[in-house]
Amino acid sequence: MKKINGFEVLRYNDGVEWQGLDWDFQHGLVAGDGKSVMSPALIFAHEMAHAVQYLKIGFDAYVFSTKKDRETYAIMYEATIAGDLGEYKRKEYHDYLQDDPYVRVKSSTDWGTVRPNNSFWTTRRIFTNQNTWTPPKK
Ligand SMILES: [Zn+2]
Repeated sequence: MKKINGFEVLRYNDGVEWQGLDWDFQHGLVAGDGKSVMSPALIFAHEMAHAVQYLKIGFDAYVFSTKKDRETYAIMYEATIAGDLGEYKRKEYHDYLQDDPYVRVKSSTDWGTVRPNNSFWTTRRIFTNQNTWTPPKK
């Protein structure tokens, strides 16, 4: 996926060189329709699904499984959570805006839509948040 400031925004890696997960809590993923935005939290769940799969089947099985199989597994987790929360459900792994996949959001649970903003001053897209969840008060 596209890098921001030289870093991958969203990725899980159980390779030999490094093991870990990169995630930016303020980057939502724009779907292939160009307007639906999945929350950073949902994307985190996707990456965690890779970790769960790795822990269940082990290094060799994980590394030698196909990327398509790994993503199908992660999308299954993602879709279940998206359904529970009413967020956009990706149709398949590549269902994201290929040339400009990320939009900045305020909170990790923000999701919604984006629309173009072709003003003279900026082409930055306008995000409309549909997240109604707020942290419980203590
Ligand atoms: Zn994945």
